[in-house]
Amino acid sequence: MHRFFVEKEYAEKMQIVGGDARHISKVLRMQPGDRLQVVSDDGITALAEVVAIDGECVSVHCLETIAELHEPRVKITLAQGLAKGEKMDFIFQKAVELGATALVPVAMEHSVVRLDGSKAEKKVERWQKIAEAAAKQSKRDMIPRVAKLQTMAELLASNSCGTKLIAYECEDRMSLKEALQAAEQAGGIKELLLIIGPEGGISPKELELAKAAGAIPVSLGKRILRAETAGLVAMSAIFYETGDLG
Ligand code: SAH
Repeated sequence: MHRFFVEKEYAEKMQIVGGDARHISKVLRMQPGDRLQVVSDDGITALAEVVAIDGECVSVHCLETIAELHEPRVKITLAQGLAKGEKMDFIFQKAVELGATALVPVAMEHSVVRLDGSKAEKKVERWQKIAEAAAKQSKRDMIPRVAKLQTMAELLASNSCGTKLIAYECEDRMSLKEALQAAEQAGGIKELLLIIGPEGGISPKELELAKAAGAIPVSLGKRILRAETAGLVAMSAIFYETGDLG
């Protein structure tokens, strides 16, 4: 069944507008009475019936809500140190496919790229579009939000995840697996903040800030992974460990 994201909170009567509305009327040639799925901004998926089609606007009536089908149990926020060129596009696209719930670009001390005001806003808009396309393609039940570009201090001040991990290439005692097992034993993991450095790595000051905020430095093994590899490997391992990856 076709699914459409509606950027509004769930309501019994909803409207699908713009490109999606044109797709429904011109390409799918749906008629009043046909059924589809809508996913609202607050993450509710519902079975809905088309009641009216008017070119740019399709009105639907929601019949019943549907339980989350494609979301992982552990909600991961990926905080990625700003990396060069197209790498952030790749990282965020793949993170959404894997199942990240939220994405945060972080301007780190060793980030080579610097983005100021309007440039940063444009980039965030671009990443949000990439996240949306990836969410649709991978049949997610929600569109992960891309937060504004922020510093490590801002990230730590605003993030409320109960489990915080920072992948640190110099860590040689605590493995990702051990940290996950400890967190599961200490009450379970619900929301997890995963911090990954940029190409230049995480600065000593950022590491200390993260530790002071309760983040646990973890190793991803004996080889140094590139910035665009580390987050995806860590996410895959977390979802595997928490029973979400096949
Ligand atoms: N410039 C650094 C490498 C940075 S790799 C150096 O040459 O040493 C980019 C980021 O990926 C790191 O900041 C870290 O968050 C993560 N990362 C890469 N390999 C890792 C590993 N083996 N263990 C933990 N984190 C790793």
